[in-house]
Amino acid sequence: MVDLRIDNGKVVLPDCVLDASILIDKGVIVGFTSKNGSLNADEIIDAEGKYVLPGGVDPHTHLATSFMGIKGKDDHFTGTKAASWGGTTSIIGFATPSKGESTLEAVTKTREAADGKVVIDYSLHPTIVNLSSENISQIKTFIEMGMPSFKLYLVYRKEGIMADDGVLMQVFEEAKKYGGLVGCHAENVSMIEHLVAEALKSGNRSAIYHALTRPPLTEAETVNRMLFLANYYHAPYYNFHLTIKEGVDMFKESRSKGQPMYAETCTQYLVNSEEDLKRPDGINFICTPPLRTREHSEALWRGLASGDISLVSSDQCAFSRDMKKLGENSFDLVPNGLPGLEYRLPVLFSEGVQKKRITLSRFSEITSTNAAKIFGLYPKKGIIRVGSDADIVIIDPKLERTITCKDSFYGMDWYPYEGMTVKGWPTITISKGKILWRDGEFLGQAGDGEFLKRKLLPEILRSPAA
Ligand SMILES: [Zn+2]
Repeated sequence: MVDLRIDNGKVVLPDCVLDASILIDKGVIVGFTSKNGSLNADEIIDAEGKYVLPGGVDPHTHLATSFMGIKGKDDHFTGTKAASWGGTTSIIGFATPSKGESTLEAVTKTREAADGKVVIDYSLHPTIVNLSSENISQIKTFIEMGMPSFKLYLVYRKEGIMADDGVLMQVFEEAKKYGGLVGCHAENVSMIEHLVAEALKSGNRSAIYHALTRPPLTEAETVNRMLFLANYYHAPYYNFHLTIKEGVDMFKESRSKGQPMYAETCTQYLVNSEEDLKRPDGINFICTPPLRTREHSEALWRGLASGDISLVSSDQCAFSRDMKKLGENSFDLVPNGLPGLEYRLPVLFSEGVQKKRITLSRFSEITSTNAAKIFGLYPKKGIIRVGSDADIVIIDPKLERTITCKDSFYGMDWYPYEGMTVKGWPTITISKGKILWRDGEFLGQAGDGEFLKRKLLPEILRSPAA
């Protein structure tokens, strides 16, 4: 007798799709059987006609964020509730220090805010801004605390969270010494500051100038430099939100030489474009790096299919229309970021799998397995296999629905995907053996999720292993 059995589904494994029953007991997967040979279970889910996949792992989320002085609409409860509705069962957020605060203090504060509130498991990337000689040792401490991946913003000088090249150098050295992973928001700050100043001087303040003052060159230059630096240190590197075709080529080249370089892109860079910035509500679509032209989106899709890009995150940042309106008269005053972490799996399934841009196995890798591998959660997370946490999403490939902010769990009054018809939706989400969502009914609660201590896999540090 086990706690839960999932029958009749098509189970998505790394190399194949299998007709099998999954047995779950005490929160973990304990076996597979053919239906006739199944053990009895307290509860049985019939997944006839549906796909059974590892629950999504989203390694780039800003819940309860504060940026440019504005607090986002979601919090650790509503954000993780929404994420799980959309089939995500683990997230990684950020501990970003406010002015005068250390990153360690930011970790403590973020954990106090999130623990007991989260519906699904979560972890944090410490954001490194400054490093005086006394807190350089924090890098080692964070790795020991189970947070071995770091975020450095190479932009946002005025906003006070930029790490300069001196800091970057030290973080690479420390991370290399103790086995950490350096991750960057890679854009060239000086070029962008120059272009923004020029645009404002000429009175060019509409939303499209956000993209025009951050052309592909400003991202390509810095991605290229980061790959050079990482290679120089023989260290692994993670590029948050890659958006340009030039970047796809650079990762292809580095990885083909065996360098452990990883790039993510985000849902919005695949399905939205800089044309959205020209809409009457164009300011809503301001995020950094900016939305690009279709040519770049198509290159990103190809990079995902070929394996040059490892995964897709959401970069969740939930600013409402009112919040965005602060920059109504000038693009540089708009709080950056887009909402929609709950739509990552459905949109990628619909636009990726249904439109045959990626296979079902690749979908599973880019939404779950690779993030778990790169950030040290594998094989506890990111795979359906005996001994792994029973984090599972069941997707009905025939279910069709249009995205609307009326469904929002955190009071969003717009989404970048508003009005998009999506085919293929999660109907059941299971986290550690507990059914959190069943056909639109929420069965979870605050505190169902816990903090995840992570440890990087040696092969991830050595070669492009995801
Ligand atoms: Zn971000």
